[in-house]
Amino acid sequence: TGTPAAAAPFLTDAMKLINSVKTFIFDCDGVIWKGDKLIDGVPETLDMLHAMGKRLVFVTNNSTKSRKQYAKKFDSLGLNVAEEEIFPSSFAAAAYLKSVNFPSNKKVYVVGEGGIQLELTQAGISHIGGPEDGDKKIELAPGQIMDHDHHVGAVVVGFDRFFNYYKLQYATLCLRENPGCLFIATNCDAITYLTYAQEWAGGGAMVGALKATTNKEPVVVGKPSTFLMDYLASEFQINKSEICMVGDRLDTDILFGQNGSCRTLLVLSGVTSLDALQSPENSIQPDAYINQLSDLLSAKKS
Ligand code: PLP
Ligand code: CA
Repeated sequence: TGTPAAAAPFLTDAMKLINSVKTFIFDCDGVIWKGDKLIDGVPETLDMLHAMGKRLVFVTNNSTKSRKQYAKKFDSLGLNVAEEEIFPSSFAAAAYLKSVNFPSNKKVYVVGEGGIQLELTQAGISHIGGPEDGDKKIELAPGQIMDHDHHVGAVVVGFDRFFNYYKLQYATLCLRENPGCLFIATNCDAITYLTYAQEWAGGGAMVGALKATTNKEPVVVGKPSTFLMDYLASEFQINKSEICMVGDRLDTDILFGQNGSCRTLLVLSGVTSLDALQSPENSIQPDAYINQLSDLLSAKKS
């Protein structure tokens, strides 16, 4: 009874933002789920946005899984999301190689986990390395040199829990000695949240090791790169000014949206606190912020 309470100003901003766009790109960890746990109210919020006629697309910098594996994860959390709507950085690496017409007689050396291997296979690109090289050691007779495959035309580097000296040296040889060998990073998150109990060394650490040995800069295909945003805009024929990027991290998600001239919405359900957002040290400001995705349900009602 009585008049409803006025919506908090930040919810009004979020609602204006929703009404001004046609497509939402959602970051996954910290927005949709935290590790293996669905964030409260997400299914209802996605249903509401669908009912409003919005297109929903999902992006993650976590390269350990393929699109198909993420589709299973969405399904296990009770979310009905098709493989074609999910864009992990593992997929972005394969899409990038296709976009540059990676020659069919060349192969990729993978410093990363299964997701990258599966996406390369799916794209018809030969690859070696991956977790299988995690057990390898360099054992050479005095004066003997380590050999490597001269047909490696690209090194793809992502988060790798099987990272070791063998892979670092192998990838270094490919990048330094194979003419024109591409250096591709799925993402550069130096610290990541495998679990929210503590901070963990992320894919950016593996990329950093190869930057050091090669003195080269990688092409980054995940967030905040323009490659992935351009790919999505072209794939779905969407105008970037009608996209809202929703994420929990300023230097990947919000920057990804800003680099693509999209609108941006920060959620505080992941790695960024309100204090960090409002700190004078932070120069990345989203168009609006909410505590968690389900705030949009109450914003719609108010
Ligand atoms: N990389 C790894 C290894 C991760 O575990 C995570 C989050 O769990 C991420 C990247 C970031 O994922 P997202 O882009 O979905 O936040
Ligand atoms: Ca995130």
